[in-house]
Amino acid sequence: MSDGEEQALIYQCVRCGATVKSSELELGIRCPYCRYRVLKKVRPPVIKRVLAR
Ligand SMILES: [Zn+2]
Repeated sequence: MSDGEEQALIYQCVRCGATVKSSELELGIRCPYCRYRVLKKVRPPVIKRVLAR
C-alpha cells in the first residue's frame, strides 16, 4: 500500500556535492555524476514559518 504522500529522500554526494533524489537511485546509492558511492542523506528544504509577534 502506498499512500499519496511519499517523502522523497535526497542524497548528496560527499565528493562532488550533487544532490540526487532517492527515486533516481535505481542502482543503489551511487552518485550518477561521479559514481562515488558515499552519499549522505539530506533533508529536502522545509520552509517552516513560525508567526511570532
Ligand atoms: Zn558525485
